[in-house]
Amino acid sequence: MANPDIGLMPCPTKGCDCVAKVRKAVSGQRLLYLHCPEHGPLFYRTAKGQEMILEQATLFGPEGPPEPAPVPPPAPRAGPDPEPAPTPPPVTKPAAKGWHNPLEF
Ligand SMILES: [Zn+2]
Repeated sequence: MANPDIGLMPCPTKGCDCVAKVRKAVSGQRLLYLHCPEHGPLFYRTAKGQEMILEQATLFGPEGPPEPAPVPPPAPRAGPDPEPAPTPPPVTKPAAKGWHNPLEF
């Protein structure tokens, strides 16, 4: 039986755009390793390598990826649209008193 996929993470190989599966080797040490469709199994046998997988992988466990969360419908509006704020009347400057246009007689 193949080792179950327990998560996904981007292939750490430089230049590889694949999403590698995260698997747990059941023989010997229970190491996490990656399986890239391009690069095949990628083993990181050191503690740092295991940490790197745990930090970067999205783990979903042996049951498989979780059901994608349903997209919540847009929240219903609470009541009708509020009245738009009344626009204040344009402020008209009172004509300056005492001002006289010298060209207008
Ligand atoms: Zn790869």
